[in-house]
Amino acid sequence: MCLFCQIIAKEIPAAIVYEDEQVLAFNDINPQAPTHILVIPKKHATSIADFNEPLVVSDLFQVMRKLAQEKGLDKSGYRIVVNHGVDAGQAVPHLHFHLLGGRKLNWPPG
Ligand code: 5GP
Ligand code: ZN
Repeated sequence: MCLFCQIIAKEIPAAIVYEDEQVLAFNDINPQAPTHILVIPKKHATSIADFNEPLVVSDLFQVMRKLAQEKGLDKSGYRIVVNHGVDAGQAVPHLHFHLLGGRKLNWPPG
């Protein structure tokens, strides 16, 4: 089972900030901004390349919008990032959306 599937199964602890039947959200263990939440589908897919659940994509975006609102990021702004593969530095082979905010974020990214 992959690392994030183990978090979904509660075999590895995480600071969970949202959970429903399809979606889990938890704080990144190595935060790159004051708010750094990972939002994932519970159904395993290794990356965006093999995720074929359009209805869950909608859920994921609803959850990210809600969390950003709860964190008070609407006015200041926030960023959503998905890494796929080596050049993007994907480290965990389970599709995850990074929700980042609470500081000025550089653009373009390095
Ligand atoms: P990637 O580089 O694959 O897009 O992002 C993986 C993210 O998962 C990284 O930001 C990393 O800090 C986070 N991460 C890795 N292992 C764990 C863990 O065990 N728990 C939590 N909460 N985050 C993790
Ligand atoms: Zn997984």
